[in-house]
Amino acid sequence: HNNILFIRTLMILLLSCATIRVDFCFSSVPTSLRALPLEGNFTFTENEFAARDYGNQYHFLPLAVLHPKSVSDIANTIKHIWHMGPLSKLTVAARGHGHSTRGQAQADQGIVINMESLGGQVMQFNTGQLPYVDVSAGDLWINILHESLKHGLAPKSWTDYLHLTVGGTLSNAGISGQAFRHGPQISNVHQLEVVTGKGDVVNCSEKQHADLFHSVLGGLGQFGIITKARISLEPAPKMVKWIRVLYSDFSTFSRDQELLISAEHTFDYIEGLVIINRTDVLNSWRSSFSPQDPAQASKFISDGRTLFCLELTKNFNPDEVDTANKEVENLLSKLSYIQSTLLMTEVSYVEFLDRVHTSELKLRSKGMWDVPHPWLNLLIPRSKIKYFAQGVFGNILKDTKSGPVLIYPVNKSKWDNRTSFVFPEEDIFYMVAFLFHAVPSSAGTNGLEHFLTLNKRILDFCAVAHLGVKQYLAHYTTQEQWQAHFGQRWEVFTQRKSTYDPLAILAPGQRIFQKRV
Ligand code: FAD
Repeated sequence: HNNILFIRTLMILLLSCATIRVDFCFSSVPTSLRALPLEGNFTFTENEFAARDYGNQYHFLPLAVLHPKSVSDIANTIKHIWHMGPLSKLTVAARGHGHSTRGQAQADQGIVINMESLGGQVMQFNTGQLPYVDVSAGDLWINILHESLKHGLAPKSWTDYLHLTVGGTLSNAGISGQAFRHGPQISNVHQLEVVTGKGDVVNCSEKQHADLFHSVLGGLGQFGIITKARISLEPAPKMVKWIRVLYSDFSTFSRDQELLISAEHTFDYIEGLVIINRTDVLNSWRSSFSPQDPAQASKFISDGRTLFCLELTKNFNPDEVDTANKEVENLLSKLSYIQSTLLMTEVSYVEFLDRVHTSELKLRSKGMWDVPHPWLNLLIPRSKIKYFAQGVFGNILKDTKSGPVLIYPVNKSKWDNRTSFVFPEEDIFYMVAFLFHAVPSSAGTNGLEHFLTLNKRILDFCAVAHLGVKQYLAHYTTQEQWQAHFGQRWEVFTQRKSTYDPLAILAPGQRIFQKRV
């Protein structure tokens, strides 16, 4: 009995010693951070911005924010924390533009690295046969677009919204209507500079440190902080023809989408929207579209019916109008949309690519941009998409007045399974994005709880029917759920973690690994 008592007391003593050491280490951290030789600086107050993101659901205040002015600022900071070892609780999150929806770029009482303060450096262009640009990972895609256009060039693969950082989208995938042809943004990068979880600065590519290169792409910030990226470019068109047509039947709609993404000569951008009982102004988020015949626009109000809108663009230069018109006419003639619903307009390439920003400005002016965004993004195998559409659009989802619902197929052949990104194992899979806006502190059918319940119903439906769905920009709360998400790739993912960030210092907001203390 005495022995048991002795062992118990000893264990309590050991545990409290460990806690005191961790707490001691923790409380002296600001002093040790202040002592680091940096070109940039730390801030210890007024860091509330780093506890906010687009999702507006999670708010974890960091202990400090690093505003780096060089890659060595980031490397020195991480090295410092790495050398503290498991004695320190400190974690580090890179923050791009903070447009995550579930606190993924936050670090509860840790260090947030404000990547945008690294941006704004001169971008280095190579305008040769295979053009590319070297950019800082803190640069926004919109700035890369403007700079590239000065050379008559542009990146090949985009997101629908360009006020996001290179590091932020490359840590996920970067998917939009060009992905069927070029793959996601992570398929259009030649080289990266990365600071690992041990503070090492490594240049990596397909040929050099290839495992780190593939780990970091779609790696949810788990293996290193991307500081520079070499992005593949192509000649940029000046104009686009922007087209929308409607379908009332899902099978016809998806058949046409698949026909278009599989053809060699096709449109340059292919997406789609689901419209259910759409009468609400919130849908103006994406409707920055000025049709040639505005009277036709009223046809977009579905009045109780479910409609599917195919959205397409064709790039052209002013001296190619006739050819572009013929190509569009020829391609449209192969489709089975409701003939009276054709809307077509011409806009500059920039205007098209930056279309969501136009809507952002409108929503901001109405105070509707900073509301909670309980988004759900799913990747669905082609063989299951009709079943999914029947169950979700035909039953679970009653309307789309609280944000757009996007749906479009992509070709798996354009994705690289050596990256950390996981996707369904079928030649074609669909991106389905429920981009809900919740009204703050509302308990009704437009409040946050309503959408979280709706998302859960959609996920439960997929799970029960074994649809083989993968979440994009996934959010899970337990490691078991992450393990299920990665499936067979989990082992590789954890191996990579123990190689590049063995103490689990990086990107704690993803809630995949816990820092070892
Ligand atoms: P943050 O939210 O700041 O960071 C995201 C994650 O990446 C965090 O875990 C963070 O720690 C990590 N991270 C950030 N920078 C780095 C870095 N340099 N190195 C390593 N890790 C880093 N996505 C699409 O694919 N297609 C779309 O069409 C699309 N449209 C969108 C439209 C809107 C209006 C919004 C708000 C988001 C959209 N997204 C889209 C999602 C977007 O790509 C992700 O939320 C992305 O993470 C946002 O980039 P960010 O710079 O704000 O990253």
